This record gives sequence, C-alpha cells and structure tokens, in this order.
Amino acid sequence: MSHCISPEAEKILDKKFKVLDKGFIRLVDYLGNDERIVQAARVSYGKGTKTYREDKGLINYLLRNDHTSPFEQVVYTFHIKMPIFVARQWIRHRTARVNEISGRYSVMSEELYIPARRHIALQSDNNKQGRSTEKTSAKLQKEVRELLEKGQKEAFRQYTSLLKSNIARELARITLPLSLYTEWYWQIDLHNLFRFLKLRLDPHAQLEIREYAAVLHSVGQKVCPVAFEAFDEHVLHSTTFSKSEMIALRNMIDGKEAGLEGKPYERFVKKLNLE
Ligand SMILES: Cc1cc2nc3c(=O)[nH]c(=O)nc-3n(C[C@H](O)[C@H](O)[C@H](O)COP(=O)(O)OP(=O)(O)OC[C@H]3O[C@@H](n4cnc5c(N)ncnc54)[C@H](O)[C@@H]3O)c2cc1C
Repeated sequence: MSHCISPEAEKILDKKFKVLDKGFIRLVDYLGNDERIVQAARVSYGKGTKTYREDKGLINYLLRNDHTSPFEQVVYTFHIKMPIFVARQWIRHRTARVNEISGRYSVMSEELYIPARRHIALQSDNNKQGRSTEKTSAKLQKEVRELLEKGQKEAFRQYTSLLKSNIARELARITLPLSLYTEWYWQIDLHNLFRFLKLRLDPHAQLEIREYAAVLHSVGQKVCPVAFEAFDEHVLHSTTFSKSEMIALRNMIDGKEAGLEGKPYERFVKKLNLE
C-alpha cells in the first residue's frame, strides 16, 4: 500500500479552468486514484495490485455491479467559483463537504453572471424546466444582456450605498441578485462525484451547471482515468428500462410491435435514440 500519485493530475493542480464568464474550477488536492480503488476492493481478499488489464477489469466490474464503496476511497477537493443560482442547485448534493465565502464577513466583489449571447433563449414549449433550442435574434440577445447588466449595476449600487451608511454586511447583501458569483471549497468522494455528474451532465440539468459538470468531468478523470472510462461506459451513457419497456424491447427483438403507445412510447424511443 502506498500514497497514490496521478501524474496527469499533478500537472493541473492549482490550475484554474474557466467556466461561464467569470467562474472557474481548480483542483486543490486529491486523495487516492485508480490504484486506491483496486487496493480497497482487494483488501477483502488480501491480494494487492495485479496487472493494468486486470485492475481495469476489476474497476469495470465494480462499477457495473454497483459495488460502489471502493470509489468512496478517492477524495477530491475543488475550489469553485459560480453564480449563486448555480450554487443553489449544486448544494442539493448533500454528500459533499462545503466551505463557502461569507457575505456576512466579506464585502462581495462586483462579479455577476451575464449569459453569453448564444445562451439567451426563450422558454421551452415542451419542457417546463428548460429553455427552447430555437436561436434568438441578435437584437433580443443584446436587449436581454443590457437589461440584466442594468439591474445588476443598480443592485450593486444599492449594496455599496448601504455599506457606506455602515449598514451591516449581512443585511446590505440582501439587495444582491442570484447572478452574483460566490466561491467555495467542495470536497467529495468519487462515488458521489459520479452521482453528481450523472445528474448534472444530463441534458435536463440547467445549461450553466452542466458547463461546470463538464469541467469537473475532465479534471476528475486526470486523477482516475480508468474509473472515469468505466463511469462513461456503465453509468453516464447508459440508461435503465422500466418493466413495460423491457417487454417492448423483447417484442422488438422478436420482430414484433413494441406494444407501447403515446407518451410511454415517445420516452422509450428517446432512450433508444431512435428519433
Ligand atoms: C434536472 C434536475 C432538476 C431538479 N429539479 C428540482 C426542483 O425542481 N426542486 C428541487 O427541490 N430539487 C430539484 N432537483 C434536485 C434533486 O431533487 C436532488 O435533490 C439533487 O439532484 C441531489 O440528488 P441526491 O439527493 O441524489 O444527491 P445527494 O444529496 O448527494 O444524495 C446522494 C444519495 O445519498 C442519500 N442521502 C443523502 N443525504 C442523506 C441523508 N441525510 N439521509 C439519507 N440519505 C441521504 C440520497 O438519498 C441519495 O441516494 C433537481 C435535480 C436535477 C438533476
């Protein structure tokens, strides 16, 4: 047993990876790597590391069979800067340890999120929790950005004015909008990082948090390349089928009609990427 070092992760330690207009993700530290997952899994048998091929096979076996506890032996600490509305979604993942900048203690910087032009979209017609994929006009994009900027400037002016009147920072900050950037240290084990990534890389997750999830995925895999490959294979790009869908699948394999109608059929077809 030894302290595990991932050469690719060493190269990016402390490097800031830009996300959105003013955010970033920085890998502060890590504990364990692919080797640690294997060591932990084999402890029950008293056997150490074997060949790369066998270790890779074991990691894939573990993930395929929901034997998740060895993945909890790998821990990441990230420093993340994101808008508050992203942090609100993020904090719902309770299995991490968080330390956030305090707006009661510190004066908040005037750093607020303005979506890129290409990300400004209308409400989706078929997804109540999402935006339309239809492109908006350059005129509308400009107007939306200007309106956001104006509101943010005014909110920050009020904040500064309250601070100047010596109103407590913990009160003055309540004028500030959800687009304000916050920062935190986020420590999570690999099993729960995979859970976060599965949920937040999904197209149903909000675009802004997906951008963070994509960077977490690329940074995280520098520590555990084999485990991430297994995750992509068995979890990220996999799906589950309901009982009715399983019957439909069997019917299709037998050359029969799927036997699903309406919404259930639409969902099934979507899962199979048949549209
Ligand atoms: C696309 C999308 C839309 C969403 N929309 C909404 C919404 O509209 N409103 C809303 O409120 N939320 C929403 N959420 C948040 C969602 O409901 C979950 O809270 C969030 O994704 C965290 O998931 P989790 O509970 O599995 O994660 P974690 O909190 O990391 O939990 C991981 C696992 O540990 C278990 N666990 C964690 N803590 C405990 C505990 N104390 N006791 C017992 N078991 C525990 C959980 O049950 C889970 O199995 C949305 C999430 C997504 C991805």
